[in-house]
Amino acid sequence: MNSNEFREWSLRAAEWGVDYRNSLRERPVRPLVEPGEIFKSIDAAPPEDGETMQAIFADFEQKILPGMTHWQHPCFFAYFPANAAPVSVVAEYLVSAMAAQCMLWQTSPAATELETRVVDWMRQALGLPEGFSGVMQDSASSATLAAVLTMRERALDWQGNKNGLQGQPVVRIYSSDQVHTSIDRAIWVSGIGEANLVRIPVAGRFRAMQTTALEAAIVTDRENGMLPAGIIASVGGTSTGGTDNVAAVAEVAKRHGLYLHVDAAWAGSAMICPEFRHFWTGAENADSIVFNPHKWLGAQFDCSMQFIRQPEDLVRTLAIKPEFLKTHGRDGVINYSEWSVPLGRRFRALKLWFLLRAHGLENLRNMIRNHVAWSESLAARLAREPDFEIVTEPMLSLFSFRHLAAAGIGLDEHNLRLVSAINDDGRIYLTQTRVDGQVAIRFQVGQFETTAADVDTAFEVITEIARGLS
Ligand code: PLP
Repeated sequence: MNSNEFREWSLRAAEWGVDYRNSLRERPVRPLVEPGEIFKSIDAAPPEDGETMQAIFADFEQKILPGMTHWQHPCFFAYFPANAAPVSVVAEYLVSAMAAQCMLWQTSPAATELETRVVDWMRQALGLPEGFSGVMQDSASSATLAAVLTMRERALDWQGNKNGLQGQPVVRIYSSDQVHTSIDRAIWVSGIGEANLVRIPVAGRFRAMQTTALEAAIVTDRENGMLPAGIIASVGGTSTGGTDNVAAVAEVAKRHGLYLHVDAAWAGSAMICPEFRHFWTGAENADSIVFNPHKWLGAQFDCSMQFIRQPEDLVRTLAIKPEFLKTHGRDGVINYSEWSVPLGRRFRALKLWFLLRAHGLENLRNMIRNHVAWSESLAARLAREPDFEIVTEPMLSLFSFRHLAAAGIGLDEHNLRLVSAINDDGRIYLTQTRVDGQVAIRFQVGQFETTAADVDTAFEVITEIARGLS
């Protein structure tokens, strides 16, 4: 591609992006394709000769686009959002044009220094005290893995990386069963082993870990010669928003000298609103906190932020300095690749900087406040319908419900059929979970462009399709 063509196709791609975003309401949120359909439509062998951009672009529109789920669709109510505000898309274009590998300070000083600044902007925006530094990771999964590795190394007096886990005391980590599966995976990958992730029973509306049970488990493990290393608290769990009493958990962590990591991957964005900060009171006492600006806040994926109280411990856990990565004569600079598992790193701070400057915190707060209010009013509306029940009340903008009128089949099967029918219909998209073993339908409002009218549409679609099925 020569530079004229690069210009032409970049402009074309930018125009395509705008038209695509403007056309989202006319598209089904989830594509109506069968498994394998797209795969079959792509040539089985790679081309020997270059093809024209016209042909490639036409195939993109004809073969790829029909198989895309439209995460930026205003009626995307499934999972959690992965918002990419237009301004962050523009920043990502610049990042991909520069295509810098920002692993060390010297491999792009601006990327490192903007990251340090933007992490501190977010610390202030979320109401966290001074004393936290932070890093931008690719995902909350990576941040949690980094935290679990740090817990392990701290507890093993830094011997795990050197000597492996054989012959060491058994490392124990504590969480409720409401945490995201990225916690399980971090426990697997760190070699701690699933059997040593101790699940603490939960109680109350937000399914919070019972701290007396937490403390008892730590004491018993110690008595049995095991090595309690850390606790992972949830603020806004993925299934139904499960949220621990972080202040109480932090006290237990402090009493027993354990590392505390808080996973607020989704709910963290809402902490820009002071009125929601009660959900994570005590987070200021954590050793690390992860939240994903790429979920609710609008910074295009991937953009996960990890706040860390003692970065020296993280760096001691993860940093490796072969000669070719040393930055001689530059003492005191931050090399963020020493703060994360992958060496290579994208320039993630730019899109967040653009987003925060273009929207300002107050507009972002209003978006989140609207989402929470619309979700609460939809839950209240469904609760008034005699054939629906609210299974879990809204935690911020997430609640779950169930349709009760099933003719001839069990409620679980009926509600699973209902989710499929709603998603096949295409006007809205949502997903299911299980609460106390039974199927419930999750609903979250969080898409950047969603309006109150879209949430009304959701009410109509849900009630119409549920009653049609019964
Ligand atoms: N934690 C919670 C509460 C989540 O909801 C998710 C994903 O939805 C994750 C962690 C994992 O996030 P990521 O995809 O950034 O690894």
